Amino acid sequence: MRDKKKLAIAWFGACAGCDESIVDINEELLALADAFEIVLWPVAFDYKYEQIEHLRDGELALALISGSVRNSEHEELAHLLRRKSLNLVAFGACACFGGTPGLANMVTREDIFATAYHDAPTVVNPLGIEPEPQSVIHGKELSLPVFYNEVHPLNAIIEVDYYLPGCPPPPPLISAMISAFLNGKLPQRGSTLAPDTALCEVCPRNATKPQRLVIQNLRRIHEGPVDAEQCFLAQGIVCVGPATRQGCGSPCMKVNMPCRGCFGPVEGVSDMGTAFVSSIASLLESGENGAGSVPDPAGYFYRFTTATSILGKRRSTVSRQNEGVTQWKE
Ligand code: SF4
Ligand code: SF4
Repeated sequence: MRDKKKLAIAWFGACAGCDESIVDINEELLALADAFEIVLWPVAFDYKYEQIEHLRDGELALALISGSVRNSEHEELAHLLRRKSLNLVAFGACACFGGTPGLANMVTREDIFATAYHDAPTVVNPLGIEPEPQSVIHGKELSLPVFYNEVHPLNAIIEVDYYLPGCPPPPPLISAMISAFLNGKLPQRGSTLAPDTALCEVCPRNATKPQRLVIQNLRRIHEGPVDAEQCFLAQGIVCVGPATRQGCGSPCMKVNMPCRGCFGPVEGVSDMGTAFVSSIASLLESGENGAGSVPDPAGYFYRFTTATSILGKRRSTVSRQNEGVTQWKE
C-alpha cells in the first residue's frame, strides 16, 4: 500500500453535524479515502488515543477538529493533536467561536449541574449525586473529565492554522479545503477558508434592501407573515447577514429564515454582536419597539460567538487561571 497522508477528524463539545457534513461531500469521500489514511474519526469507527500518542510529532498531515472545549478531555486531546499535526483546522462554528454551546457562558457551571442533575422534570436522583472527576466505587477508582467553568473556542487552548466556519461547514467548502490542501494551495496560516465579505452582499434578497433602511418595529419571525423575497431587515425581522461572513450559499434565506450568523464575523471584527447591534441601532427609528424589544438579545446577536465576545473573554481569563491552564491566547 502506498504511503498515504494521515488525517485525524476529532469532535469535542459538538453535535456531530460537522461530521455529517463531511459525509455529505458524497462521492468525493472516495477521493478523500484514496488520498488519506484516516487514523482518527470517533463518529465513524473505534479508535484509541494511544494510537495517536504513538505517532511521531508532526506525522499527521491534517487534523480537523469540530466542537468547543468544555472539559479536560477536550483540552488534553487538543494538545495531543496539535503536537502530532502539521496542519490543524478549527472545523465549524463551535471550534471557531464556541458556537451555540458558548451560550452556556451566560450561566455558571453550578446552574448547569443544578438543571442537569437535580431540577429538570425528567431527573430522578434521590441521592443528589453529581459526576465527580475522581470517585471510588466497589474499591475501584474511576475518573471522568473535569467539566470546565465555561466554553472555549479552540484557539483559546492551542494554536490553530486554519478556520472553516459554519454550522456546519457546507460540503462545497469542505471539498475546496481538501482540494487546496492536496494541491498545496492553502492560503497563509491563520486564514479563514471562506470569502471575507458580508453575507448581505451576495444574499438573493439584497436587491430588495432599501438604500436607507428605517426600521419602525422589530418582530420575531413567527409574529406575522413573512415575504419570501424581501430583505428580512426591511420587514423588521432581525437578520445578522450584514455582520456575517459569506460562504454558506444562503441556505437559510432560501427556506425563508433570516441569517443567525453561523459563519461568524468578517476579518477585523472581534465582537460580532456589538458590531451588529451598533449597525442595527443606527437603522431604528424609535427606541420603543427597537433593540430592547428583542426578547433574547444574546441568542440573536451572539448565537454562535458568545465564547469569543468581549464578555466571554473577561469571564474566561479568570476561570482559566482557576483551572490551572497554561496556554491562554487573548
Ligand atoms: S439583511 Fe439579511 S435578508 Fe437582508 S439582504 Fe442582508 S442577509 Fe439578506
Ligand atoms: S444564512 Fe447565516 S445562519 Fe444560515 S447558513 Fe448562512 S451564515 Fe449560517
